[in-house]
Amino acid sequence: MWKVTVDKDRCSGCGECVDACPGEVYDLKNGRAEVVNAEECHGCHTCEAVCPEDACIIEEQ
Ligand code: SF4
Ligand code: SF4
Repeated sequence: MWKVTVDKDRCSGCGECVDACPGEVYDLKNGRAEVVNAEECHGCHTCEAVCPEDACIIEEQ
């Protein structure tokens, strides 16, 4: 299982994580990324790699 978190204070709403995530884990709401599908995360860490603000946090649990 993977825990997916967006640091809302850092997120600029660029949408890179939404476009890059193969599991459609993220969606943009009110100009910020939100985790809408955490159960589809398979821990590829792509979102962490593409996020320019280091706002995506993936943790194994
Ligand atoms: S680690 Fe991969 S599957 Fe999980 S939220 Fe990030 S991009 Fe999506
Ligand atoms: S890539 Fe980072 S800054 Fe851009 S919308 Fe996603 S969490 Fe926010």
